[in-house]
Amino acid sequence: MRQSSFWARTVGLRNTMIQRVEMTDGADECIIVHVRPRRKAMSRCGICQKRCPQYDHGSGRRCWRSLDVGEKRLYIEADAPRVCCPHHGVVTAAVPWARHDVGHTLPFEQQIAWLACHCSKSAVAELMRIAWTTVGAIITRVVSVARAVSDPFAGLRRIGIDEVSYRRGQRYVTVVVNHDTGKVIYCAPGRDRATLDKFFSLVGPERCDEISLVSADAGSWIAEAVEAHCRNAKLCIDPFHVVSWGTDALDAVRRGVWNQARRSGQKAVAQEVKGARWALWRNPEDLTAAQEAKLADIARSNWPLYRAYLLCVQRRSLGSSRWETGRGKSEPRSRPPGVGRRRPRRSGG
Ligand SMILES: [Zn+2]
Repeated sequence: MRQSSFWARTVGLRNTMIQRVEMTDGADECIIVHVRPRRKAMSRCGICQKRCPQYDHGSGRRCWRSLDVGEKRLYIEADAPRVCCPHHGVVTAAVPWARHDVGHTLPFEQQIAWLACHCSKSAVAELMRIAWTTVGAIITRVVSVARAVSDPFAGLRRIGIDEVSYRRGQRYVTVVVNHDTGKVIYCAPGRDRATLDKFFSLVGPERCDEISLVSADAGSWIAEAVEAHCRNAKLCIDPFHVVSWGTDALDAVRRGVWNQARRSGQKAVAQEVKGARWALWRNPEDLTAAQEAKLADIARSNWPLYRAYLLCVQRRSLGSSRWETGRGKSEPRSRPPGVGRRRPRRSGG
């Protein structure tokens, strides 16, 4: 493979001629790849990409930060001539490796955007060796370009609405997800009717009428907004909150049984219930042998608490998508422990 092809592929350059590659000296060593656009990509308006007559040579050579090679920073360097576009006037000519008026290459911006979805802004800034504010600017740019080519509100049928807290519960963001694609389609600060009204006005009345199901918690502000905007939608309580309320109720029953046993001097019962917290909370399929034994004891000696546990497990299974093929939808994959289940054999016994 020729050296120019090697660098073009390594850096992810298209329609670009590699002229030469150099490595700078000094403490901050970096690789500089000198390039020029291929003839068909030259003399194009930086905004509309139309071919235009060249105006002048601009302000000389320019650098674009690209993805690092190993531990070395890599820059693309090229001339930045100006063209005269009939619609946009005198502008810097377009380059195939970066967006107009941006100091980073396309693969670099794509990587920042991907990382921003998976780690904190400060982690991205440190890893990629760029300013914290640059991360924000790149995210805004990538999102606006993606929004221009695809409509996140197209074909909405089933959506979920919830709020997420940040700054230790001091502030909230309302999040809307498309259940059919599993993607977040809207995020805005606040958790009130006005925030949702703004979302539904972006979707528009015609598309709101096509929404058939909305899942949410029991917040009245969500119910009011859904009723006002989605005339054909059914509002459902989302499984996460159903399970959460079930678990809270189970814990309330456990505390009640524990207090009652303590007051009536039943120390053994109080001890058994106190130590059963994790066994009651965990999913049946994740229980250890000791926790299964604890639940079997509760099933024998403490029917009210065990009944609350069974109701909680049933709630979890109703909201779970982990069904096995061939089973009826009312039958969960795992049965509660202590109900017709054989204990695992212990070796050496
Ligand atoms: Zn133009």
